Amino acid sequence: MEKKNILTGIRPTGRLHLGHYFGATSNWVKLQEEYNSYFEIADVQALTDNFNNPEKVRINVREIAIDLLSIGIDPNKATIFVQSTIPEIAELTVYYSNLVTMSRLYRNPTVKTEIKQKKALFGNSGESVTYGFVGYPVSQAADITAFDGALIPVGEDQLPLVEQTREIVHKFNSIYGETLTVPEHYLSKTPRIKGLDGNEKMGKSLGNAIYLADSEEEISKKIMSAVTDPNKIRKDDPANPDICMVYYYHNVVKNPNVETVCMECKNGSRGCVACKKELISSMMEFLKPIQEKRHYYEEHPKEVDKILLNGSRVARKQAKEVMKRVKKSMKIDYFEEEI
Ligand code: SF4
Repeated sequence: MEKKNILTGIRPTGRLHLGHYFGATSNWVKLQEEYNSYFEIADVQALTDNFNNPEKVRINVREIAIDLLSIGIDPNKATIFVQSTIPEIAELTVYYSNLVTMSRLYRNPTVKTEIKQKKALFGNSGESVTYGFVGYPVSQAADITAFDGALIPVGEDQLPLVEQTREIVHKFNSIYGETLTVPEHYLSKTPRIKGLDGNEKMGKSLGNAIYLADSEEEISKKIMSAVTDPNKIRKDDPANPDICMVYYYHNVVKNPNVETVCMECKNGSRGCVACKKELISSMMEFLKPIQEKRHYYEEHPKEVDKILLNGSRVARKQAKEVMKRVKKSMKIDYFEEEI
């Protein structure tokens, strides 16, 4: 049976942290075995929020590529590419922008939530909300369809974006004839990882993240200040591990000793400092193979560039084929020869 195409991506605005890893990218490692996987480093999308800081996006394109390779994305099995190297995505975005109304974009729950967050940060004037930002679901529809993406791995909160793409595709196909693949969502069951401060979400802007590339020193500092049971004042006070982030992370990194941690915490025979030290060593053990690979790719930047270049070439070839179909259907395929 022919493998289906799967498309998913990540914005290069910072290195990967454990939230990205457990919430999405560790699943990509499995997906690459079953599907024709296109993993997009979405620099154009990152620029919608960071248009005035292109250096940050540029640096993080390579950082993300290294992170993806370090966690086990295999360029021989999957295509890792940079969004801006595929001009067909921008072209499709323009054509699709005629197929969606402004009010529909403003009603998109994901856009709505993000606009609310922007207004909370920058005031209520709405001046922080750009045309590019409101239109990013259209560019996402272009991302998905440019690679005949049949399955789109998403979390619950991103379902409206896939729905928006489906609407655009249906409209395109009904006006211009069957041309584009209608994508289905692939609900990923990966968990959302809490931050070190107990926040439901781990995030760079929240300052509560552990990065895959963090050194032992950085990790020690973070874990030593993680939130524990506030009622445990003395070393031998019994405590409740269920409200302690250190215990939570013992579970996340699958410390084989986790049952003992729980029992000793409850009966007061475990001090928080020793417990945190044990977590630091489990965390480093967990990150060791990832960091070893990262170190290799940091030492071989040309290899990383070659992987990105080759991946972008493969992706562009596919996008060009889709573009050909689109232009034919829209009757704008004026010349047989390329211009
Ligand atoms: Fe948390 Fe460990 Fe302290 Fe219990 S002993 S409160 S699990 S750090």
